[in-house]
Amino acid sequence: MDVVPVVPEEWSTEPFAADIVGEGADAAIHARGAIDDKGALVAILEAVEELVTAGFTPAHDVYLAFGHNEETMGDGAEAIVGLLRKRGVRPALVLDEGGAVVDGVIPGVTVPTAMVGVAERGVMTLELTAREAGGHASTPPDFPATARLARAIDRLHRRPFPTRLVPPVRAMLATVAPHAPQPLRALFSSLGLTGPLVAAIFGRLDPEMRAIVRTTAVATRLRGAPGDNVLATSASASVNIRLLTGDTVADAMDRVRRVIADPEVEVTLAHGSEPSPVSPWRGEAWRRIAGAVTRALGEEVVTTPYLQLGASDSRWFTAISDHVYRFTPFHLTRSERDALHAHNERIRVDVWLRGIGFYRELISAG
Ligand SMILES: [Zn+2]
Repeated sequence: MDVVPVVPEEWSTEPFAADIVGEGADAAIHARGAIDDKGALVAILEAVEELVTAGFTPAHDVYLAFGHNEETMGDGAEAIVGLLRKRGVRPALVLDEGGAVVDGVIPGVTVPTAMVGVAERGVMTLELTAREAGGHASTPPDFPATARLARAIDRLHRRPFPTRLVPPVRAMLATVAPHAPQPLRALFSSLGLTGPLVAAIFGRLDPEMRAIVRTTAVATRLRGAPGDNVLATSASASVNIRLLTGDTVADAMDRVRRVIADPEVEVTLAHGSEPSPVSPWRGEAWRRIAGAVTRALGEEVVTTPYLQLGASDSRWFTAISDHVYRFTPFHLTRSERDALHAHNERIRVDVWLRGIGFYRELISAG
């Protein structure tokens, strides 16, 4: 199974040695993939082995599906789904990596929350290109391609997509409302009235909260002249856009064109996938997950739907199941979550063992 690369010099341990550092409750496995996603991989296999060893026979078929190249947007999961579809398999519940058990992520909420992704945003990349005849950098034209491109990027940056509360986010706030202090409790309990206000407030908080209330767009790659003394005949930027539930690739493209308001900047779609369908947060599949959280991770943990911000392999599975959930059963601190895709990725041994318990409960629940 793949993991993202490492920069070994940034790590305080050998990134692929899986050293256990610390004692007692602080003992943690330090390794690339400890959380994302080998931690879950091994926890699932461990849970299944324990059940098999104990002679457990599940009431329903259980498929273990591990894509090998998720981090590079690879084709592994797509191939798995293709095969399952050919065999006519329609899973009653799909669980992929996703939200963790976290503290203090939702403003005002102090109880630990199990963040179960019921949907994920779409992802697309637009190419913005400005062109000109070119020439020598010593005699630049009045408005070179690079300046035109910069103006387009600046306009995009100044006019972000509007904020709104989409159904999974409404459901999340309604779920945690009883655990929030006033006046947040009142705000979260009457979103029919307060929704636009809450969306506007979240739109000004940290990047995670901002991203659950709006489609986001950011210029990621810039290209210009091949040398520093030539004019760029074409200057281009890749703009990475993450689409909120309800938005479409076509809508976003229209809006970008409108905001840039410059017919000389060509806007083309490099690739795009629409936001995922939304899985329900009631019914049998949901209860199974919430029950396993309570039994394995603690009575005090509140299981809540949420909108997953990053893209995962789960998007392929929505083609064969209406009940696709994104949850990683590890109780993580802020700094542990920050180590994902960064240096010093680690998981506390205790937390990992409880995660195994979650998978065991999920599979064996009656
Ligand atoms: Zn990852």
